[in-house]
Amino acid sequence: MIRVRFAPSPTGMFHVGGARSALFNWALAEQAGGRFVLRIEDTDAARNRPEWIDGIVSALAWIGIDAGSPLFEGPYFQSAYSEQHRRAVDTLVAAGRAYHCVCTRDEVEARTGSEHRGYDGFCRDRGLTEGAVRFRTPDEGVTVVKDLVRGTVEFPHTAMEDFVVARADGSPLFMLANVVDDVEMRISHVVRGEEHLSNTPKQQLLWEALGVTPPVWAHLPVIVNEKRQKLSKRRDKVALEAYREEGYLAEAMVNYLMLLGWGPGGDREIMPWAEMAPLFSLEDVNPSPAFFDEKKLRAFNGEYIRALPLPEFVARCEPWLEPGWDREVFAKVAGLAQTRVAVLSEITANVDFLFLKEPVFDQAAWDKAMKNSAAEILGGYLARLEKVEMDPESLKTALEEVGAEYGLKLGKAQAPVRVAITGRTVGLPLFESIEALGRERSAERIRAALARLTG
Ligand code: GLU
Repeated sequence: MIRVRFAPSPTGMFHVGGARSALFNWALAEQAGGRFVLRIEDTDAARNRPEWIDGIVSALAWIGIDAGSPLFEGPYFQSAYSEQHRRAVDTLVAAGRAYHCVCTRDEVEARTGSEHRGYDGFCRDRGLTEGAVRFRTPDEGVTVVKDLVRGTVEFPHTAMEDFVVARADGSPLFMLANVVDDVEMRISHVVRGEEHLSNTPKQQLLWEALGVTPPVWAHLPVIVNEKRQKLSKRRDKVALEAYREEGYLAEAMVNYLMLLGWGPGGDREIMPWAEMAPLFSLEDVNPSPAFFDEKKLRAFNGEYIRALPLPEFVARCEPWLEPGWDREVFAKVAGLAQTRVAVLSEITANVDFLFLKEPVFDQAAWDKAMKNSAAEILGGYLARLEKVEMDPESLKTALEEVGAEYGLKLGKAQAPVRVAITGRTVGLPLFESIEALGRERSAERIRAALARLTG
């Protein structure tokens, strides 16, 4: 059975790169009816917090990796396996594959010179029974890692020191704990980020030394920003949660993340998970860096938003609407807004004018619109607004007429009215906005703008 895993260290935020790894693993589990194991690598106890673990589970749920699915196993906690870790260390020592070492860094440097990198093997045959434990790497030959994404990668043993697997107090290091857990959890495929490729020869040696056939390896390409720098949490927006809060739809996010290093082929990129997951294959993953293109993600999101049935769009907007806003009024303009927003959070600025007592004036918009014959246009339109039919077509004709009196095309005549009504120069179509706002409130706003303009 295919058993994959996702093994995050809880660090307080869920990285988009982690989400990509999780999705690739999930696709493999789904295809094969295998298992997706969630293992929290929480041995760095000082840094762990329970809410981060909830954060991982809910982030996974958001992208469709549901802890309630029969394919899902865990979460398991690395910290609960310390007995197994210790036993593995004992086994390695007993078999002569690892040994105790009491050398300090200064001692090693004094023997080898500070240029020499790595451990010199001083304690290898001293038969010590305490101190840190080092794995005895072979002196000659190479470890051949067969990676489904990268092909065959050779690591010469001469460049590999006897690395530490457990500290002097018996606690295991990442390298060992990670392997022992994968062995315990009978993981068949290790699919993770490229930054772990350099650990892989050591881990493969550990698998073999523990007498277990190593898993299939696949290291996913690094994700870079527009400057081709590896995405970093200090520089780039990397938290999945940040995208969620901005109003990215989970399905758009999932679709986009699947394209970071892979694609369904052909010229179709927008594809729902249910169609995409069966096509996924590790062999087709491209090892070169994957560009995280936020503009493209936005465009994807806009497409997904426009494809939502209107009632569904209305429901998804709910978190961005203030509690006091009239939902019936919102529903009237929602369809217009749906074609205009790329992320759901943009809904607020599009519709708030309907619900606020006064529009929020954008000063630059005001300055731009309220000049030349603005006052005359506003005055003329205000007069017509008393008797005009309240439908977009009639509202438009009325403004065309006013504009014509001053030699202005509709586009120019609209500007002051739009700013008076909505406070902005861009937004929903003007005449639908006036219809939704109603005769009284629209007239009131034009009056207020006139007062502001002339007063
Ligand atoms: N806990 C490791 C990390 O967060 C992952 C280790 C692995 O996938 O093997 O980077």
